[in-house]
Amino acid sequence: MSEIHGLGVHAAGAQLLPYKYDPGALGANEVEIKISHCGVCHSDVHLIDNDWGMSKYPFVPGHEIVGTVAAVGSGVKDRSVGERVGVGWQADSCGICEWCRQGDEHLCAKSQPTCVGRNGGFADKIRVNSRFAIPIPEALESENAAPLLCGGITVYSPIRNHGVRPSSRVGIIGIGGLGHLGIQFAKAFGAEVTAFSTSKEKETEALKMGAHNFVNTRDTGALKKVAGSFDLLLSTVSADQDWPAYVAALRPKGTLCIVGASPSPVQVQAFSLIGGQKAVSGSNTGSPRDLFEMLDVAGRHGVKAITERFAMSKANDAVARVKKSQVRYRAVLAN
Ligand code: NAP
Ligand code: ZN
Repeated sequence: MSEIHGLGVHAAGAQLLPYKYDPGALGANEVEIKISHCGVCHSDVHLIDNDWGMSKYPFVPGHEIVGTVAAVGSGVKDRSVGERVGVGWQADSCGICEWCRQGDEHLCAKSQPTCVGRNGGFADKIRVNSRFAIPIPEALESENAAPLLCGGITVYSPIRNHGVRPSSRVGIIGIGGLGHLGIQFAKAFGAEVTAFSTSKEKETEALKMGAHNFVNTRDTGALKKVAGSFDLLLSTVSADQDWPAYVAALRPKGTLCIVGASPSPVQVQAFSLIGGQKAVSGSNTGSPRDLFEMLDVAGRHGVKAITERFAMSKANDAVARVKKSQVRYRAVLAN
């Protein structure tokens, strides 16, 4: 028997406390990973607070995991002991539905999130289906790579899948964990990139990350000034936004893609979409196929998370800083 030691949440909004569990026998398709680093995504905070009504307590949060394969199940052929791998939001899927078969496992109805109904990466070890343990390219440091496993893929997938190219004008709304990676990936795709932020003190850093323009959304009329400017706007903000103003900021055929979990219904006038054939869409993390590609692109184009490092035992401090929007730009827990 090998116990796993982590930090668990026992009730909505509670502090993380030492928590151990027995994972049982290693499944034939599973790998056991010795965790070195785990990022703190704002989704962990939503889960800790049960903002989405889906949290199952007690649980260990954490779904931006990097570590080393410590054991493989009898049926695992794709991973080996000693290999450095990462795990993101998803730990398993059915493997046989139409979405799994076409490589969109993240859309599988039986998708298993890493830390909903399972225990995640604020721990010393984790077990997942080997298909969701993605090798980390040598060019990436573990601490800077961990946030790519959720924050990175969540911005990479829509940038890739909306066909962003050098002629594209892309806006990234909210420059936090996801947003600061969004700027870097949109730049890597060759786009002209605009950062939208409520924090004017982030301007210099946003430009250093690769943004060409910076819009302080607290300035009166700031969004009006950029009306008709963007092919893709990616909202990474967890709060409600002036959606009609962002739709107006799109060029014809532009898309406002929402990945941040803003709480209220998104309301826009039908006519604001009809005239310019605009779209409002959502995007959910990304598939293992896109994870492989995203990590390769990050390694070759120098995309990396800017991190604040905390000892695993200081996870409560890290969560508190995420809640106050103080982190620049991703908190990472290290074992
Ligand atoms: P984060 O690090 O806290 O960053 C969010 C950023 O949004 C902040 O840095 C801030 O940027 C801006 N912001 C925060 N509160 C705001 C407010 N009241 N008004 C305007 N802007 C505000 O969070 P994250 O980890 O990047 O996650 C962002 C959201 O994406 C969360 O809701 C998370 O659950 C969600 N998410 C979704 C997926 C998916 O698959 N769709 C995956 C991962 C995360 P500025 O200072 O620049 O304004
Ligand atoms: Zn996440």
